[in-house]
Amino acid sequence: MTAGAETSGDPYLPAHGNGGYRTRHYDLDLEYRVAPNRLTARARVEATTTQALSRFSLDLAGLRVSRVLVNGKPARYAQRDRKLHVTPAVPIADGGTFTVEVRYGGNPRPIHDPAWGDIGWDELSEGALVASQPIGAPSWYPCNDHPADKASYRVTVTADAPYTVLVTGDLVGRRQGGSLATWVYERPEPTATYLMSVQVGLYEQATLGPGQHAAFPARLRQPFLHDFGRHGLIMSTLERFFGRYPFRGYLVVVTCDDLDEPIEAQGMSVFGANLIDGQRTHERLIVHELAHQWFGNSLTIREWPHIWLNEGFATYAEWLWSEASGGAPAEDHARQWHAKLSTGPQDLVLADPGVSRMFDERVYKRGALTLHALRHRLGDAQFFALLKDWTATYQHATVSTEDFVRFAGGRLEDLFTSWLYRPELPATW
Ligand SMILES: [Zn+2]
Repeated sequence: MTAGAETSGDPYLPAHGNGGYRTRHYDLDLEYRVAPNRLTARARVEATTTQALSRFSLDLAGLRVSRVLVNGKPARYAQRDRKLHVTPAVPIADGGTFTVEVRYGGNPRPIHDPAWGDIGWDELSEGALVASQPIGAPSWYPCNDHPADKASYRVTVTADAPYTVLVTGDLVGRRQGGSLATWVYERPEPTATYLMSVQVGLYEQATLGPGQHAAFPARLRQPFLHDFGRHGLIMSTLERFFGRYPFRGYLVVVTCDDLDEPIEAQGMSVFGANLIDGQRTHERLIVHELAHQWFGNSLTIREWPHIWLNEGFATYAEWLWSEASGGAPAEDHARQWHAKLSTGPQDLVLADPGVSRMFDERVYKRGALTLHALRHRLGDAQFFALLKDWTATYQHATVSTEDFVRFAGGRLEDLFTSWLYRPELPATW
């Protein structure tokens, strides 16, 4: 076969991601003008083929391509249905590495999904944000949009000078020329496309703990510092449960506008202004988003059906924090949610919830209950040792439900069968 497959083969989102190659590195150079919401960009993607390729595709939506080079040579291309189809002048051999350079631009806008709403690059009243899970990355750069294909990144953004540009990575350079400033970020760890993010805004900044920083609108300074006042303690508590924080730094961004839900990105979490009230009302969400740095970001699901490995673990982290910080013990949270789920329909299989129910509340709560049942069975010492082993063994890699079941070891088959693979809610743990 010489043609590239235009599908990732994902059971839930086959149209996102592409076959025939694996990406290694993205070098993105963006110029973004805030007022007209105008993006002019160049993406250079390094990849390795997994088969001989006479053509291949990338995911890109809503932006117009003006030139494509493959290994420095002009290539034919066409844009259709959120795909950029590329035919290189010279076919690429099986196992060969290649570089594709794409020049593109336009007015970036989120990708609309009937179930999930608008996802991707979006304008704010003062700036812009990127929130891509699960399908928004192609709204701002050409990519192989599938979580299993993680790559490193260098992102350069030039934007109007009064704005601060925050990208998921380490800031390695900043220069100003006239009314524009250029920001250069590097993200060396393998990163899923949906976890790359750009935040453009007018922020005040603060430090929350070692390696933990925050950017927020100046008007929210006081309530923000109260709401995130225990962040250093939350970090050290989660490290005690899950092992070392998997990235070098962590940045909390609060947008000037409200958001429906907070969003995790690599080494970053994004909260809407509406979640800051000076009462710590939403502290559990701070814990939840931080926990995704281990579960989702470092250990990334290989296909979307395994989403409980992200959401169940992040939800259980909320319960663990509650217990560790003098709130209700995890057992109380488990009882409450078990009682609630018992009264609802029992037609969801946790290990395969279906694409329309990937973010169903049951994926979160039953996922956490599964871990609680496992903890009950193993005892605390063995359970927390298992979690630390799991995050260390698969750090910066991809994982599946079957990996976890295998990793947890024998004599747990009955537990996993009833919690993960059958729709009926087990009577107890
Ligand atoms: Zn989550």
